[in-house]
Amino acid sequence: MAKKKNTQAAVEWDYSPSPESTSHIELKSKYDLYIDGKFVKPSSGKYFASYNPATEEKLADVAYANEKDVDKAVKAARKAYTNVWSKMEASERAKYIFRIARIMQERSRELAVVETLDAGKTIRESRDVDVPLACNHFFYYAGWADKLDYAFPNRKVEPLGVAGQIIPWNFPLLMAAWKIAPALAAGNTVVIKPAETTPLTALILAEIIHEAGLPPGVVNIITGYGDTGAAIVNHDDVDKIAFTGSTAVGKIIQKAIAGTGKKATLELGGKSANIIMDDAPIDQAVEGIINGIFFNQGHVCCAGSRLFVQEAVVDIVVKKLKRRMDTLILGDPLDKNTDIGAINSKEQLAVINKYIKIGIDEGAEMYQGKCVIPEKGYYCPPTIFTDVAQSSTIVQEEIFGPVLTIQTFRTVDEVIQKANNTPYGLAAGVWTDKGSRIFNLTTKLRAGVIWANTYNKFDPTSPFGGYKESGFGREGGLHGLSAYVKLK
Ligand code: NAP
Ligand code: MG
Repeated sequence: MAKKKNTQAAVEWDYSPSPESTSHIELKSKYDLYIDGKFVKPSSGKYFASYNPATEEKLADVAYANEKDVDKAVKAARKAYTNVWSKMEASERAKYIFRIARIMQERSRELAVVETLDAGKTIRESRDVDVPLACNHFFYYAGWADKLDYAFPNRKVEPLGVAGQIIPWNFPLLMAAWKIAPALAAGNTVVIKPAETTPLTALILAEIIHEAGLPPGVVNIITGYGDTGAAIVNHDDVDKIAFTGSTAVGKIIQKAIAGTGKKATLELGGKSANIIMDDAPIDQAVEGIINGIFFNQGHVCCAGSRLFVQEAVVDIVVKKLKRRMDTLILGDPLDKNTDIGAINSKEQLAVINKYIKIGIDEGAEMYQGKCVIPEKGYYCPPTIFTDVAQSSTIVQEEIFGPVLTIQTFRTVDEVIQKANNTPYGLAAGVWTDKGSRIFNLTTKLRAGVIWANTYNKFDPTSPFGGYKESGFGREGGLHGLSAYVKLK
């Protein structure tokens, strides 16, 4: 701890910098496409840069895959599916998946640092949440690979074939694990595209998969922009599309595959309600609000971005929330003390700032945590809005940043009605001392995942997914496995 300036009342203490070392990281200056077990140049010869959003510095160039490259990757995946992966003993498949998980663990420090550099998320989160959970997904699904007959008793279980997978930038490695692990366990082969701003951990995963000795073509990792994703979606020889991203792109994909017979799971946006009842343990609930909306800078599909507080406790909750916001440390994502890192990109910061302006223009009352914004990089202070209405734009639309709206309610029926009054239905949180209230609310809230007296808890064994415009299909657990099999 370092001593801060003496204020009138007392000496204030501050944390000394505690940056994670990057000396062990050896990023290549250029990354190629991982197709058919080899790193190959893109057929267009084009590359694009990935940046560190905390410093605006370029990290590496990555290949830009076009339709020809996608075709090559799908052909490799089909060949590997037909000749090798679908024929292999399931217990052998399990060993490969297990090996990926083990090598990921061995390289976990490197993966965490690269995730933080490329995405702007804090090292504490990439080290303690993203990377361990990603490893756990591979371990968990490795366990199912040779037990599919027990997973789906009395049914004949068959893989779907080639899975085309497209993922977003908020949990780059974790989303890759959510997609690849169940697909492989069920006997499918994969063509996956990470998001353009965060391709690097997926490319390290390609190295890991290579090191694990997976037969060529079982997993193909290709980088590119939205049109690369569209080429995967529109390829005739893909049997299943697994997409995580925005509702807008989800709708485009659904239209594109209508009538093709391709199977799909769509994990889309959200505007989840976090509900504080008057009997809730207030201090824990305040931590839950902080974790719900400021975890990963609010770049979380299931972020608790709409807070509902029962009227009797609203003053104390808002007071404690503001006090806690002032203690949050914003800044260098590589510093182990940092709570709020960088916004993923300049474009996303512009989107968040647009919504903050709309909130102010529509007459809501704003409060922002007291923190110093670094000169370089893309940052947004933790922000809350009170005096909002159900019809306010910032209550209705997904912001995907550290911005919370706060509404009040008097009765349980009122909060159920308000919480469900959204086009989305991904997650919700309920804070109360009474089990009966938890059961009442959880059965009436239209959301795929509901947490009671906690928030943003994830586990590979438990299914995750949405209702309504938050998409369909589940990832995680047995439900996640069933999305990659044909049952006869
Ligand atoms: P996005 O713009 O929809 O992009 C997601 C992925 O799709 C990226 O890889 C993107 O490539 C690609 N893509 C863009 N246009 C495409 C098209 N026409 N066809 C096929 N692929 C296309 O979403 P995002 O901004 O990266 O991510 C934020 C959104 O994801 C939020 O709405 C969030 O709620 C949602 N999300 C949902 C979940 C969930 O599980 N429900 C989890 C995480 C995030 P580029 O990167 O090159 O644009
Ligand atoms: Mg980046």
